[in-house]
Amino acid sequence: MTQSETLFQRAGIHIPGGVNSPVRAFKAVGGTPVFIDKADGPYLYDVDGKRYIDYVLSWGPMIMGHNHPRVRDAVVQRAQFGLSYGAPTELEIQLAERICAALPNMEMVRMVNSGTEATMSALRVARGYTGRDAIVKFEGCYHGHSDSLLVKAGSGALTFGVPSSPGVPASIAEHTITLTYNDPDGLRECFAQRGEEIACVIVEPVCGNMSCILPTPEFRQALREVCDQSGAVLILDEVMTGFRFGTAGAQGYYGIEADLTALGKIIGGGMPVGAFGGKKHIMEHVSPLGPVYQAGTLSGNPIAMASGLATLDIISADGFYEPLFAHTEALCQGIQAEADKAGIPFTTNYAGTMFGLFFTEEEKVQNYQQVMACDTDRFKRFFHSMLDQGVYLAPASYEAGFMSSAHTDEHIELTIEAAGKAMVKIAQE
Ligand code: PMP
Repeated sequence: MTQSETLFQRAGIHIPGGVNSPVRAFKAVGGTPVFIDKADGPYLYDVDGKRYIDYVLSWGPMIMGHNHPRVRDAVVQRAQFGLSYGAPTELEIQLAERICAALPNMEMVRMVNSGTEATMSALRVARGYTGRDAIVKFEGCYHGHSDSLLVKAGSGALTFGVPSSPGVPASIAEHTITLTYNDPDGLRECFAQRGEEIACVIVEPVCGNMSCILPTPEFRQALREVCDQSGAVLILDEVMTGFRFGTAGAQGYYGIEADLTALGKIIGGGMPVGAFGGKKHIMEHVSPLGPVYQAGTLSGNPIAMASGLATLDIISADGFYEPLFAHTEALCQGIQAEADKAGIPFTTNYAGTMFGLFFTEEEKVQNYQQVMACDTDRFKRFFHSMLDQGVYLAPASYEAGFMSSAHTDEHIELTIEAAGKAMVKIAQE
């Protein structure tokens, strides 16, 4: 038995499913999750002493790779002065100033502790601001696990949403309308029928939760258009994409104007941080300035702020992103070439520092239905072959991959080589 297997058994006794977040359990790919001992640069090291090139990067935050000395020093330095005060600090202002300087239309921002809190609170503000209850989201987008957002489409696109988890009351889910990503006509149709009831549209500007799906120009345009016409708030969920497409996020990369933005992951540099913010006339509704209540004992935690500040400092340097973009492209093109060589139907999506791998005959994968139609069995075999060869990919076909500045040409080449072997193996089976 490996150490990971032993730990997984032990974990299952007191932790549901042995993990503190479901996808970590490897249910989608089978096998035992790798238990991590430590991480450094582009590498994860498991408790059995095996090293992996990591493309999960803690599900996105570690854009400079793991254990960056400047971030570590900032955290260690700050930890000498106490861990939490429940009172304001200058660090919070500094991080808010940085975020507001980086993102267009980010005039005020409130720190929270996770992406879930950020989107949940942004929804409340949008509802409080508009006085409306209905919200629009898109199938395959994930915005954390709050009640209003754990909802799938009803039988028709414009029907009441239904809970996607037991425990979410139908009376809450019915306010959530779930539409198809990259379907501008469906979005316009929805607003033509129900626009006046809709408080907000919440969307991942690049979707990283049904693998990686890029927004079409028509879809991007329709998002802003329907919100302008109806008075609904456009919430861009940039928990994953924020500071991953350049400092102005996917909204800067694609030129989408957000009313509110949800952030997380990178802005904490690996510490538990989220944030929501946007246009001042909307954010002025947040307590204690306005009537929309939102709070957090540990929000703006000084260690987390120090970690986030050090991270944003480094990634704001000129030329930080270009090599990551180039590596993301090289990786996807390299894996594609290996799949082609092996005769495996396969395609990729990539933009900025995110990518998705699809075992499919389709040339373009643009929505949830197409992602779900991919060959998950082939993905499982690919995943395990890569894991065996020391490459750590997200353990589910519907998750995106991430690039960091710690990944070099050599890591990309090694990964493509491993992918080549995996593809040949798949073709033989
Ligand atoms: N929004 C998006 C786009 C996400 O990818 C995630 C998590 N992966 C969340 C929200 C929720 O963030 P958290 O897990 O920090 O609650």
